[in-house]
Amino acid sequence: MADNIFRKILDGEIPSRDVYEDDDTYAFLDVNPLARGHTLVIPKEDAETLEDLDDGGAALFDTVRRLAPRVADAVGAPAYNIGLNNGEEAGQEVPHVHVHIVPRFDDDGGHPIHAIQPSPPSFDDDEMDGIQDAIADETRSL
Ligand code: 5GP
Repeated sequence: MADNIFRKILDGEIPSRDVYEDDDTYAFLDVNPLARGHTLVIPKEDAETLEDLDDGGAALFDTVRRLAPRVADAVGAPAYNIGLNNGEEAGQEVPHVHVHIVPRFDDDGGHPIHAIQPSPPSFDDDEMDGIQDAIADETRSL
């Protein structure tokens, strides 16, 4: 068994404000919410990143897709962001994969997902060709 805060929440060793549970997933309020209704969705399986999950995240994202609009409705939000910091370099702090559902409100002062990189790099056409080819090569075996 893994030893991290979300495993402890799943095992009931640490309290959480649960909002949904099924056989594979669990959802609860973030203790430091970015917005009213900020919810975390986690798999019950121990997995640090999406790639570590047996089903690659299918059950996790199925719950997210069903939950997100309901979370937003419950707090009167007209929109929401979905985010996953997948890996330490991406900002993941808790080593148990989790998806953030962050309700968004008119004039809430927040930003779109592009705010994760305030100084984006620029690429010329040749570089974009190379990037496209590299990714297409990787995905050919899907
Ligand atoms: P990360 O940066 O890993 O994507 O996000 C971790 C999230 O977990 C943060 O938003 C943080 O507020 C939340 N969090 C950390 N510890 C706890 C906890 O003990 N309970 C709850 N409900 N949320 C937590």
